[in-house]
Amino acid sequence: MRLPAASASLLLALPLHAATIAVDVGHSLGAPGATSAYGEPEFFYNRALAQEVARRLRGAGHLVLLIGADGEETGLRPRPELAAAARADLFLSIHHDSAQQRFLKPWTVDGVQRWYTDFSGYSLFVSRQNPRFAASAACAQAISRQLQSRGFQRTLHHTAEVAGEGRPLFDRALGVYEADFAVLRHASMPAVLFEAGVILNRDDALRLARPATRTRLAEAVAAAAGDCLAAP
Ligand SMILES: [Zn+2]
Repeated sequence: MRLPAASASLLLALPLHAATIAVDVGHSLGAPGATSAYGEPEFFYNRALAQEVARRLRGAGHLVLLIGADGEETGLRPRPELAAAARADLFLSIHHDSAQQRFLKPWTVDGVQRWYTDFSGYSLFVSRQNPRFAASAACAQAISRQLQSRGFQRTLHHTAEVAGEGRPLFDRALGVYEADFAVLRHASMPAVLFEAGVILNRDDALRLARPATRTRLAEAVAAAAGDCLAAP
């Protein structure tokens, strides 16, 4: 069948490996996660970045299910269940990082005492309890390579031998850790939890709030996501 020129070029514009990707906004308005060194709740960082990631993925021809963007409380088990119902090929949970209390120092911002840490950088988490562990790890590594090629650096502070940390590294160079977080365990598809940076770090918090930073982070995720799923 001969296609009209317009539809032929439309077909050519579609990516070879279009996927359905669930982008999960970590936390909710009612339980917004960490608080930045300047007092900004993590949820707002997560939502802004998740929306940019979704925009980039859609631009690359993928179908995107954005979970939790309305800020309503979505349980940790329903999140990957929504992804499964949409037949998602990948579950990506977007977060911004903190540190254990012993690594925090007090300072004052606008007359209010806040907490900060000197840890800085992104990290990625995958779970061996996820049935698609190998594919999850491959996607986390692909995302990390794209981040590093754009100048982002990973943090190793989750290896600290203290309560709440001591996470085993799957890939030290790429900052990919193993952790059995509920959203990763309950996902039936490959699943990655992305901590985009440490908002308790005074520099990271400012950088991560900039649209230009979000753009670079989202480009990295979008560049990696389609490719890692297409790999055998
Ligand atoms: Zn979080």
